[in-house]
Amino acid sequence: PSPATLVDGKAVAKTIRDEITVEVSRMNESIGVVPGLAVILVGDRKDSATYVRNKKKACESVGIKSIEVRLPEDSSEEDVLKSVSGFNDDPSVHGILVQLPLPSHMDEQNILNAVSIEKDVDGFHPLNIGRLAMRGREPLFVPCTPKGCIELLHRYNFEIKGKRAVVIGRSNIVGMPAALLLQREDATVTIIHSRTKNPEEITRQADIIISAVGQPNMVRGSWIKPGAIIIDVGINPVDDPNAPRGYRLVGDVCYEEACTVASAITPVPGGVGPMTIAMLLSNTLTSAKRIHNFQ
Ligand code: NDP
Repeated sequence: PSPATLVDGKAVAKTIRDEITVEVSRMNESIGVVPGLAVILVGDRKDSATYVRNKKKACESVGIKSIEVRLPEDSSEEDVLKSVSGFNDDPSVHGILVQLPLPSHMDEQNILNAVSIEKDVDGFHPLNIGRLAMRGREPLFVPCTPKGCIELLHRYNFEIKGKRAVVIGRSNIVGMPAALLLQREDATVTIIHSRTKNPEEITRQADIIISAVGQPNMVRGSWIKPGAIIIDVGINPVDDPNAPRGYRLVGDVCYEEACTVASAITPVPGGVGPMTIAMLLSNTLTSAKRIHNFQ
């Protein structure tokens, strides 16, 4: 069989960032508004700090203003809520992002509920998720990672309508909204989770697989229907003494095996990851346009 097409998220994300750059400057020139993204980081988790740094860099690269607030690990929930509400009222801020996970003494739901749905660029507000799930309703924002998965399918002209799609994982931030989005695109969707029996029998029926599990190389070649399209969201560190940092990142899907069976697959890294950040920028631009009624 011919090897699978590499679905190049890095390249698509670059194209999208270029499109956003053009729109951001058109908006600034026409109405003098620069889209602004506020990021709230609580505590000093290294991975969270890295994500926040990358988001900030990405904003700068397209001309979006980024505002960062760092609160200490022992902040109170009220401190975070105060910061959220300040940004809700700040007209120069069009998107608010609370970096997860929050310290365990805080009620994550309370804090996410406090983000104005007009500025909920992560798409995690229950009203946005609720609208995503309902026919005839439109969410103001769709969560960035699943949106990035669907955008990749679109940009490669892979048909979704009428296809059998399987989503592995049902988290609030990836699996569940990915399944809802596929359903909105008229796929027939099955969700696999940790209690699913014989997952490989289900994945073998899929024309499209989106995997968001967090288990390195769980999806083997034998799980895949020949010609299937695979979007691998997983980002999993595995020990590798030859790698500079002693580990490397792999997806949920065994890439080498999948390549010989699937018709298309996203690499890890360089697949969904860059798309997630591009969608965050896109959501922030959309928000600024909506708030200022700019087409
Ligand atoms: P969660 O841990 O929140 O969810 C994992 C999901 O996988 C759960 O629904 C769980 O089932 C299911 N699961 C776990 N083990 C199995 C198994 N053996 N078989 C079937 N299902 C299983 O993770 P996230 O959704 O937050 O993230 C998933 C992966 O995606 C991670 O590797 C993460 O690093 C990556 N990620 C990548 C992003 C990107 O930009 N590329 C962004 C966000 C995440 P159950 O519900 O029953 O517990």
